[in-house]
Amino acid sequence: MRVYLDNNATTPCDPRVFEAMRPYFCETFGNAASRSHSFGWEAEAAVERARGQVAKIIGATTETMTMKVSQGSEVSVETAREIVFTSGATESNNIALKGVAAVHAEQGRHIITQATEHKAVIDPCKYLERHGFRVTYLGVDKHGRIDLDALQDAISEDTILVSIMAANNEIGTLQPISEIGRICKERGVLFHSDATQAVGKVPLDVESMGIDLLSLSGHKLYGPKGVGALYMRRKRPRVRCAALLHGGGHERQMRSGTLNVPGIVGLGHAAEIALAEMERESARLTKLRDRLWEGLSGRLDDVFLNGHPTERLPNTANISFRYVEGEGLMMGFSDIAVSSGSACTSASLEPSYVLRALGLGDDMVHTSIRFSLGRFNTVEDVEYVIERVSAAVTKLREMSPLYEMAQQGIDLSKVEWQTHS
Ligand SMILES: *Cc1c(COP(=O)(O)O)cnc(C)c1O
Repeated sequence: MRVYLDNNATTPCDPRVFEAMRPYFCETFGNAASRSHSFGWEAEAAVERARGQVAKIIGATTETMTMKVSQGSEVSVETAREIVFTSGATESNNIALKGVAAVHAEQGRHIITQATEHKAVIDPCKYLERHGFRVTYLGVDKHGRIDLDALQDAISEDTILVSIMAANNEIGTLQPISEIGRICKERGVLFHSDATQAVGKVPLDVESMGIDLLSLSGHKLYGPKGVGALYMRRKRPRVRCAALLHGGGHERQMRSGTLNVPGIVGLGHAAEIALAEMERESARLTKLRDRLWEGLSGRLDDVFLNGHPTERLPNTANISFRYVEGEGLMMGFSDIAVSSGSACTSASLEPSYVLRALGLGDDMVHTSIRFSLGRFNTVEDVEYVIERVSAAVTKLREMSPLYEMAQQGIDLSKVEWQTHS
């Protein structure tokens, strides 16, 4: 038995999505930019349809378009103008941040984001700081939420963009997106949201939430890897943004390069399924997530749930198992896929800056495990994980002198450790 509870890292492609993509590799293989024959027209129609499917899951405007697919035959397709296809959320975030910065540099050079963003937002911000922009990284409270007054205070004359993620990938905390959107609108600042983890898990609506740019990714949504989208508002206001890639002017000049038609078809289909099933699936995942927490906290003492107790993704439980190092714990159950906040699992080898931003000490950060459930997890998976993880924690604690000392009532924070040099 193997259980995958690392769905915030990537999700398996849904077989229904794979089936929808299949014809677009070998049969309907045309270049969507080929205007002179039906191979191109068929591919283009598929891409336009996918744009509409992606638009719907975020509440963007769709429109009906009549498209020629062969000599003498036309189809009616529901598409959307505000969706740009990219290679994933990293690219979408890069276009949003660097593209908006490039166009607005004369007007202002200040960007506001938060400390717990994904690296795909943090790193472009660091890049912009090296190129003459000022970036404010808002802190978060102990549950991972920004303070709206702090956001208000941070906005100044030269602020051009606010970038706040809808849901955090490590702890699942949801930000008050509608309130942030309202503030940005009032202050005349563009609002970008990395909604990669939120899409398909919680309702999103770019209109009522006042979002001007939104990033999402196929592989976090039971679609394929290497494809994503950027929503860019075209009305009230029309977002102006520079392209990063040049070479052919695809995607209304925003993203040159031959379109990944099978990937785009997959993303569209994945979005359609996620939207249709969201309500039921989120309720199911919430139950599994809460069962996981109840099972573990019922069997073990000294466990802590990180992130917001209620304003949280339905699939995510980030838990610290005090006195037990996360990496070591994971080795105790290699048949269960999770990730840890301690180190090593991340490319950077640094302990989680997200958990640190919550104000958690090393003892909480290094003992944390992220469980992220998904569409293909069952009640049996969760029961198995509860058994395995609580047994592994208990076993490691039995061998831990720290745990023993703590059980004897020794305050570990007051212990003077001898260092060997
Ligand atoms: C996974 C993830 C990304 C990166 O997405 P890719 O499509 O893999 O580039 C960005 N932001 C968040 C919040 C993510 O979870």
